[in-house]
Amino acid sequence: MAKRIVTILPDLTFEEALDITKIYSVAGCIRNNSLIMQRPFRSPHHSISSSGLIGGGKIPKPGEISLAHNGVLFLDELPEFKRSTLEVLRGPLEDNKILISRVQASYTYPCNFMLVASMNPCPCGYLGDKYRKCKCTDYQISNYRSKISGPLLDRIDIHIQVSNIKYDNLENEEKESSSEIRERVNNARKIQLNRYKKYGIHSNSELDLKLINKFCKLDKNSKLLLKKSFEKMNLSARTYFRILKVARTISDLDNSENIKEEHILEAIQYRI
Ligand SMILES: [Zn+2]
Repeated sequence: MAKRIVTILPDLTFEEALDITKIYSVAGCIRNNSLIMQRPFRSPHHSISSSGLIGGGKIPKPGEISLAHNGVLFLDELPEFKRSTLEVLRGPLEDNKILISRVQASYTYPCNFMLVASMNPCPCGYLGDKYRKCKCTDYQISNYRSKISGPLLDRIDIHIQVSNIKYDNLENEEKESSSEIRERVNNARKIQLNRYKKYGIHSNSELDLKLINKFCKLDKNSKLLLKKSFEKMNLSARTYFRILKVARTISDLDNSENIKEEHILEAIQYRI
């Protein structure tokens, strides 16, 4: 699923292609002299070091987060990564760029990537499974989960539990194709480009506090719903604003000018 995400992301613009190519060129990863026309998908192994992830070396080269610029960075088995390695992602996830300082000079590399990560519900992987029994102790489970810090989790907008696939569903059914989904995504992106053309941003994820207040207005019921969830789930301020942005995107995908109650409900659901 993670690998397929790049196939539904909006079409690459010329500027984005140029940026990606420049980074790969600096990293010495360009094989022929042509422009890279695909969004990158990077999935580093969990043994990667902090500098491998964010960039480093004597003359700092771009790390995986920059090689994933305008594309996807996939971290499989998230708790297997060193906690200190994961923590370095916090800054870049907010700023979309990374500054690497050396004695001689400082280097800034862009890193506007989509972070996708996977993990099991517990070390054995069967917690909550209908058919197999989990053998982990409470201590093992909490130890496993504590490898992901709250602040990092806060910065991940959509959390989804994926259950095992049944045998019957393994057969090839008629499913929606990537290009069909991408059409919807492109449409939502077009709405956002149009809405923000005066503000120098391109998408909902770039909304700051002021613009959130302007473009993520809620009706009375939605406000009440969000207020209740905020208190019940003990959400952070950061999560609150991220839910609003996700709801804005869901409403754009729905071709709806305003955020409706169902959009807020769906966005909150991705936080449970
Ligand atoms: Zn288990």
